[in-house]
Parts: sequence; structure tokens; C-alpha cells
Amino acid sequence: MDCPRCKNPLSTTLHNEVNTVLEIDLCNNCGGIWFDKGELARIDKIIEPQFIEIRKIPRQRDQLEALHCPSCEDHPMMDKAEHPRDRKVILDYCETCKGIWLDKGELEAIQKENWLITVGNMFNWLING
Ligand SMILES: [Zn+2]
Ligand SMILES: [Zn+2]
Repeated sequence: MDCPRCKNPLSTTLHNEVNTVLEIDLCNNCGGIWFDKGELARIDKIIEPQFIEIRKIPRQRDQLEALHCPSCEDHPMMDKAEHPRDRKVILDYCETCKGIWLDKGELEAIQKENWLITVGNMFNWLING
């Protein structure tokens, strides 16, 4: 699987958080992280469900670079969603496989809170909303 942003091959890395070990795909070049649906489903099981408002924003292909899903075979264009409390945080997510791509700066921005719980909540919202 290659990085959707810089096309560098992603390396699989284990991440310890909240007494569980997650397998995430990390780009060593740009620092972006890919979460696939299975990994996010595991997050969902270990966190307290909590509603965080996130709104889906319209596709803004002129303003924001559109990325293609690194996981799906035909690499469909991913959609974007923004974090309500920090508008700099724009997540790319794939409607087809429900994977989520986080750029390095986005991860740092949500690390102020528990980023894993935040990502888990975002995932809940995206698939249920
Ligand atoms: Zn990259
Ligand atoms: Zn996909």
C-alpha cells in the first residue's frame, strides 16, 4: 500500500494505546497514518461511545488536494471531513472501505485530546452519519 499523498510505501507499525495494540500503516516520508476499517472497529470496542459533532464538508477540490484511497483496488477519490473544534484538521476518508487517512499535522492537532478516542468518534460519526 502506498501513501496517498507522496506515494511512499507505507510501513506497518504497532501502536500501543489504551491497553490494546493497533496495527497502523505509517508513511515514514510525510508522517501520515492510514487506519483501515478493521483497525478502527477495534478502537470502537475499547472506547466509551461519546458524541462529537463533526460535519461533513463539501468536496473542495479547488482548495484541498483530493487524495485517492490507498487501500481499495481501484483507488477511488476519498471524501473529506473536518474536526469541529479545529478547522485545520481535515480528515480524508474512503466511503468504500471506511478507511481514514490522517496527515502528520492533523494527528498533532488532535493529540491535544486523546487522538485515538477522537479518531474512534470520528469513525463512528462517519459510518453512522
Ligand atoms: Zn507520505
Ligand atoms: Zn478505500
